[in-house]
Amino acid sequence: MINPFNLLFGRTANTSNAQVKEVVKVQAATKVKSVDELYKDRTLYTSQDMFSPPSERLPHVLRFELTEGCDWGKCTYCGGFDGIGYREKPFEEFEQHVDRVWEKIGNSTELARSITRIFVGGGNALSVKTSRLSRALHYVLKRFESNTGDNTPKRISVYGRTNAIADKIEKLGDLKYIYKSNGINLIYWGLESGSQDVLNYVRKGCNREQLERAVQALRHSYMDSSVMIMPGLGGFNFYESHINETAKILSELRPRFITFMGINPCPTSEYARRMNAESVAGKNRPLTDREMVNQMASIIEKANINSKVGCFPTNIDGVGHNPLPFGSVSIGSNIAKDTLVSRLRNAAIAMKI
Ligand code: SF4
Repeated sequence: MINPFNLLFGRTANTSNAQVKEVVKVQAATKVKSVDELYKDRTLYTSQDMFSPPSERLPHVLRFELTEGCDWGKCTYCGGFDGIGYREKPFEEFEQHVDRVWEKIGNSTELARSITRIFVGGGNALSVKTSRLSRALHYVLKRFESNTGDNTPKRISVYGRTNAIADKIEKLGDLKYIYKSNGINLIYWGLESGSQDVLNYVRKGCNREQLERAVQALRHSYMDSSVMIMPGLGGFNFYESHINETAKILSELRPRFITFMGINPCPTSEYARRMNAESVAGKNRPLTDREMVNQMASIIEKANINSKVGCFPTNIDGVGHNPLPFGSVSIGSNIAKDTLVSRLRNAAIAMKI
């Protein structure tokens, strides 16, 4: 009879027990102490720091990489996947990736038991064909259950780009299917702005009709959505249209979560170079911190929402610029919303610029 232990460690007939113990010791020594250690291992992950939403960069969230890079990769401010071409991992490769991540964490270890949420990246995992995504998620769930003692994750989330979300409504029931069969219960939508002018300015690659279809797809999906908005995007020229059109989309969707992350482009990005040239020519300019906070307050004020609204210190995600990180606030009532808006307005008045 084949000893599964031999298969696991490639033990030959001549391997001594001492050698086996040595292998086990080496394997044990490779265990990580925190999930953050995993993401630094370039043999496990391709993207730098496993690019993900700020709320999924927490010690109890385990992240996997189903796709590498972003299938669009043309937004002028984005350096999230610089130098990483887009690729969907074949299922076998993804399976190995999941296995290797869990090997590093271990079975029923303290760390394994502390994990309660899963994020499946990269930049647009929702672009993967539903049948493939479903198979991959099924495997993720299976490994989660076996490594954490039959627990099920409290949340499974992915990033979805507007076009990918909009496309899912074409194939009737795709999002519902993923929700029911695979337990995805949250989609992070990088909307950034509801203004077509702003989206064109940053080459987001989607139009108003796709935005509307994405809203419809999410509203009928049973899943929660978390929408990312970028104050300051597009600069002063689009100040009003960013407020009005973003508030309109948020009112249509009424997402469970909204996260604000101010624009903070890398100086060498196309966005920064263009904004710089326009500023020098007097044609546009970046918003001041005060304007950014006021723009955020106006979006919240105008949107008909009862969401949990977040704005976090930028050291959490390392990419945005939030002059006034207020944490997370539920605005389930008009009073809560008015309180937040006036808090932001007052803080903006106290700012130097
Ligand atoms: S869709 Fe997202 S990840 Fe892709 S280029 Fe744009 S901002 Fe970057």
